Amino acid sequence: MKLYYSKLQIELTRRCNQSCIHCCRGNYQNIDLTEEIIDSFFEKNDIYYISNLLFSGGEPTLNGKMLEYIVDKIIKKEIPVDMFMLSINGLTYSKELINGLNKLQKYIISKSEIPRYKAGLLMISQDQFHKKANKKVIEKLKDLPYFSPVEKYTIGEKNILPYGRALENGLSKHQLDLSDLTNYQKNYSIKKYEGTTYLVIDYQYISANGNVINNGCESYDLMDEYTLGNVQEQSIEEIYIKNKSKKLVLK
Ligand code: SF4
Repeated sequence: MKLYYSKLQIELTRRCNQSCIHCCRGNYQNIDLTEEIIDSFFEKNDIYYISNLLFSGGEPTLNGKMLEYIVDKIIKKEIPVDMFMLSINGLTYSKELINGLNKLQKYIISKSEIPRYKAGLLMISQDQFHKKANKKVIEKLKDLPYFSPVEKYTIGEKNILPYGRALENGLSKHQLDLSDLTNYQKNYSIKKYEGTTYLVIDYQYISANGNVINNGCESYDLMDEYTLGNVQEQSIEEIYIKNKSKKLVLK
């Protein structure tokens, strides 16, 4: 079965060089995405298409070399991608991360049937909780076509998610809701087209430890607790089909 992704989000690391009080992840963990996990994901799965490719963390620049490694795999396998997106905190610069994004930008544009200037977005989080970005980092990024101008903004109460440190610090006005973690059956379908079967996935999060999760907004602990499976042990098809009759139960 071929995989068709509307949104695929890959967590590069669980490390971070900040400790924002609103962070939905909780405390940082000393876990990085590895070449073995990425190899396993690309070897076990036949990826037909990725519309939105998202990268996250932790702080993505702390494991930029794995972004470049993923991009090299995508290019080698000629997997079509429509666009990419990620946010960094602006404290550190990663040459490998920018190499990877530059390659991805070039690759997407070269495959595009319509003229495009940029293939994605790189943003710096500059809300009231994050530290001020390093001017030298901004200087290095400012001329990249996919770099979004840095603007200070305020995150309203309604947009703070009730997980991790935000929950501990009482910053979110939302009730804890785990339905997005458990309702994975709503997130995929199986479609046949011209004799080929596709596993169409609306959204999937792959964590730095290889865990596959139905949603990527929660704390690391919750995501591990409600994982669907791990890319090092099974293909995505096996994970979804195996879980087909399994209802993840809220604990
Ligand atoms: S919000 Fe981002 S920068 Fe802040 S601690 Fe969490 S992962 Fe790090």
